[in-house]
Amino acid sequence: MRKSDVTCPKCQAGYRRIELTSKGGAAGEFRCLVCGEILERMDGSTDVAFRLTVQPNTNSYAF
Ligand SMILES: [Zn+2]
Repeated sequence: MRKSDVTCPKCQAGYRRIELTSKGGAAGEFRCLVCGEILERMDGSTDVAFRLTVQPNTNSYAF
C-alpha cells in the first residue's frame, strides 16, 4: 500500500491518496470534490482511493 498527499492545484483542497498496488481498480478519473478539477487519471492497474483531508479556504476561492 502506498500513501501520499495530494493538493488540488485549483482550490488547494488536500487529499490523502491511498494506492493498493496488489490489486486492480476502476479505470477513470478522480475529480476534486470541491471544484471538480481532475487530479488524477487512473488506468485501472492499481486501486486508488482519495480522502479529503483539508478543506480549502473558501474565502480565497472564486466561483
Ligand atoms: Zn479543487
